[in-house]
Amino acid sequence: MKSALKIVMLTSECVPYAKTGGLADVVGALPQTLRAMGHDVIVVMPRYGRIDGSKFGLQRHFESMGVWMGNELEWCAVDKGENDGVPVYFIESNKYFERAGLYHDENFNDYSDNPRRFGFLTRAGLQLCRDIGFKADIVHAHDWQTALASAYLRIWHWNDAALGRAASVLTIHNLAYQGKYSAADYDYLGLQWGNFTPDKFEDHGAMNFLKGGIVYADVVNTVSPTYASETRTPELGYGLAPYLNDKGSDYLGILNGIDYAQWNPAQDRLIPANYTAADLSGKAVCKQALQKRFSLQENANTPIVGVISRLVDQKGLHLLAEAIEEIVSNMDVQFVILGSGDKGLEWYFGSLPARYPGQIGAYIGYNNELAHWIEAGSDFFIMPSIYEPCGLNQIYSLKYGTLPIVRATGGLEDTVQQYDEAAGTGTGFKFLQPTASAIYYTVGWAVSTYYDRRHHILQMIRTAMAQDYSWEKSARQYVALYEQAMANKAARDGAAG
Ligand code: ADP
Repeated sequence: MKSALKIVMLTSECVPYAKTGGLADVVGALPQTLRAMGHDVIVVMPRYGRIDGSKFGLQRHFESMGVWMGNELEWCAVDKGENDGVPVYFIESNKYFERAGLYHDENFNDYSDNPRRFGFLTRAGLQLCRDIGFKADIVHAHDWQTALASAYLRIWHWNDAALGRAASVLTIHNLAYQGKYSAADYDYLGLQWGNFTPDKFEDHGAMNFLKGGIVYADVVNTVSPTYASETRTPELGYGLAPYLNDKGSDYLGILNGIDYAQWNPAQDRLIPANYTAADLSGKAVCKQALQKRFSLQENANTPIVGVISRLVDQKGLHLLAEAIEEIVSNMDVQFVILGSGDKGLEWYFGSLPARYPGQIGAYIGYNNELAHWIEAGSDFFIMPSIYEPCGLNQIYSLKYGTLPIVRATGGLEDTVQQYDEAAGTGTGFKFLQPTASAIYYTVGWAVSTYYDRRHHILQMIRTAMAQDYSWEKSARQYVALYEQAMANKAARDGAAG
């Protein structure tokens, strides 16, 4: 192995302590895999009020740590825990983190001091490295919340003993969230007014955390190669495409891994029966149980299409809503829907079982056990996303032999291979147009394949179940990314020296 790296991950969320999205899964798994490869990784995150310190065995590490914010010295405490062997440091500040939500209140209003909260978290994370003598090779930031790390390294820490040699990496989990705020807190953040220019932090008069982070980072990545290409265009670049394009080959995509300890039909303890590609009989048991649970007609030969999703615009379920009634009216197919979010979509999907009894089942809410049941018991799994940085459910579906029907965007494009009718190869069914009719015809294609070419479906199931999206594979790509960042940093230092 090449020499071990010292890596600090700065993050606003991490499984199992606090989660609102995929970022938490990544930071809850990638450090462990890097550690198993011999690297020295620490994680720094906020000590949110809702994190139960005794449940996770957190210990006080520093009673007080001073952090310079602009011209003010702020104080916090630091707790320490361990997540599968990886040290996790928690920045404790009642003023900033002792409240119910991570980013917003119960009415979904963003906390007005978010720029201060996450600017503080980021500077505190760097200060912590100095105070514990962690001489980082890599500072790895995630999303806008910690994106300022790359700028702080260059502005404040270029010459210090703990951080002077650190290269910076920024991972974007969803480019739509950028941390764009009025410049009122710019002084507090200590970013220097000389940098408040359109090529760095300034964005139409406001300041933009993610933009500054991108500009200063040694390398930037997102969570799939196709999403990396799409975000280089005006359509999905949300105003930042020019800055991502300026990074050249220093902006790329690395697919997330998935946790096969949780999502594997051979050993999943939440599903009615286990199964493997060699013996699919357990999958038939899961299908029958799913039909029973949702009061669907118990017919082994009627294909089931599963849906598990946040009900938000990004996921394209308003398009499915436009198509689904025509689908179930014209095709012998069943749907099982699990989701929550948009109230209008919740009401609509929740009303379908009563109108199409025996053919559509729905559960409005969040239910992890049901998610496993649907992955195991369905024949197909639909994700008509408008955009999808990586996506996890389609990767779970592959493992469960539940063929994905997806819009060819982002991580969906990268992880699902299109069915080839002549050869019988592929792992799913893809369409490009974000329309109800594209969904209608692609579901029709999958359903007719199910009825007319079952041997192809079986071959696709076997190929799908053999795919490997383990964290080991992704972590190796992250190590290559870290090396690229270190080479860029060395070249930068050489040019400066
Ligand atoms: P995103 O992170 O954009 O919501 P992903 O496909 O990457 O989409 O991940 C979604 C994760 O959340 C999966 O693990 C999925 O099983 C889970 N999930 C989403 N909605 C629900 C729900 N209503 N009940 C249970 N699990 C859900």
